[in-house]
Amino acid sequence: METELIEIEMIEDRSSLAAMSAEARSNGAELVCRRCGNAEEVIAGVLVMMEGSEIWALCGPCWRQLPQGSHIV
Ligand SMILES: [Zn+2]
Repeated sequence: METELIEIEMIEDRSSLAAMSAEARSNGAELVCRRCGNAEEVIAGVLVMMEGSEIWALCGPCWRQLPQGSHIV
């Protein structure tokens, strides 16, 4: 059985987050926390899956709960 490594880029600088948020808005969407779905929370970071170009936005509390350096299930 092969182990698939998913490359994840963590984006947490404010200018990049602002740009992603503006881009989502121009597509009629809003960056909402993928984990808790709380639209009231400010997005603290975005995970970009290098495969499939999926992005996960996470709010502050959820971002801090990320297991640093390990993969996300
Ligand atoms: Zn959250």
